[in-house]
Amino acid sequence: MTTMLGVSLDGRRVVLAGGGSVAARRLRRFLDERADVLVVAPDLAAETQQLIADHDVPWHARAIVESDLDGAWLVHTATGDSAVDARVSAWCEARRTFCINASVGAHGSARMTAQSRAGDVLVGVTSDAGVDPRRTARVHRSVRELLESGRAPLRRVRGDAAGSVALIGGGPGPVDLMTLRARRLIAEADVVVADRLGATAVLDELEPDVEVIHVGKAPGHHTVMQDGINDLLIAHARAGKRVVRLKGGDPFVYGRGGEEVSACLAAGVPVDVVPGVTSAVSVPQAAGIPVTHRGVASSVHVINGQSGLSPATVASLRDPAVTTVMLMGVRAFDGIARAALDAGIPANTPVAFVENGHTIRQRTTRATLGDAGDAARSAGVANPAVIVIGEVARPDLLLPAHAVAAREGTPG
Ligand code: SAH
Repeated sequence: MTTMLGVSLDGRRVVLAGGGSVAARRLRRFLDERADVLVVAPDLAAETQQLIADHDVPWHARAIVESDLDGAWLVHTATGDSAVDARVSAWCEARRTFCINASVGAHGSARMTAQSRAGDVLVGVTSDAGVDPRRTARVHRSVRELLESGRAPLRRVRGDAAGSVALIGGGPGPVDLMTLRARRLIAEADVVVADRLGATAVLDELEPDVEVIHVGKAPGHHTVMQDGINDLLIAHARAGKRVVRLKGGDPFVYGRGGEEVSACLAAGVPVDVVPGVTSAVSVPQAAGIPVTHRGVASSVHVINGQSGLSPATVASLRDPAVTTVMLMGVRAFDGIARAALDAGIPANTPVAFVENGHTIRQRTTRATLGDAGDAARSAGVANPAVIVIGEVARPDLLLPAHAVAAREGTPG
């Protein structure tokens, strides 16, 4: 019979007898758990050697003797010699020290678990009798998938934890473009403060008693002012809630994430930021536009259309090796295009409008700087859209040479 205990190895002596590849795997795990590890092995596998060097692990380069176990709370024996492993196991038994015996067919008084961590929740898998590492691995994988899916009920029930805020980048829309960390923090949240754009479908999966507050801004309508949002985050965190601030794209790209972080820090509220897939890169990508492309564009200038045409933007538009990516630019586009043409930017500079990137309503409208305003109007281009200006927005950029040749009527 086996029982599973949550044991802390933090700062406690763990002795590893043997230095092969099994030992390396376990060593990595014990180091992650901050154990005070001693390795005793005449030889080391390359990976064990590397770990020992990287983490300054003490190593006795010889066969194990009983006195090596002095002070150990846990021993792991994988010497490759089952007689030695059995002897180490027997020493441990007499000394009342738990021992994991990695010899085939043996198991000692303790067993490894395959474990998954999701925030402060830990799930381990092991066998009660016998050993079946492949089955354990399969069960473990399926448990981990559940934890990572964001569908496990990870939310704290006992409300004695300190409140906190997590600013989460939800990406351009599809839930599977969010990070696993984002999914987990959302599953742990007591309160979610959400924008209009981004992966809002995750909100449908929340338990009914999770409070969802929509502060999304439709262009021109500032539903909740920024100070109001900051106050909301701080107030809920101070009430002991785990607050998620869910944003479209990345929190630090035109997401006012910096302001929310400093407001939390000023209020003494713990705050974390989880990066997201920004629309500045991923929405052009959805339309087949790489924002940099060898031999075509070597840098990217990201702008907010509402700020107008700055000298830096004029300079980037003038340089054919720079891609200019405009967010929040649909309404301002005409004025910016006119000013750019007046500043001498060539009228044939390629432009692409990509609306609703990564959603079923995605649409791309191609034009040139000279006619883009009209093209957008007649196509009825609307927010949310990312506007790409520069050579990478050419419709034929990624087409194979023969397709380009066929299109242009030249032999390929
Ligand atoms: N923090 C976000 C940007 C917020 S500003 C990010 O990193 O993506 C909002 C602007 O993002 C919109 O006006 C639009 O230009 C762009 N945007 C966001 N999601 C989009 C999508 N799915 N398709 C097209 N544009 C999008």
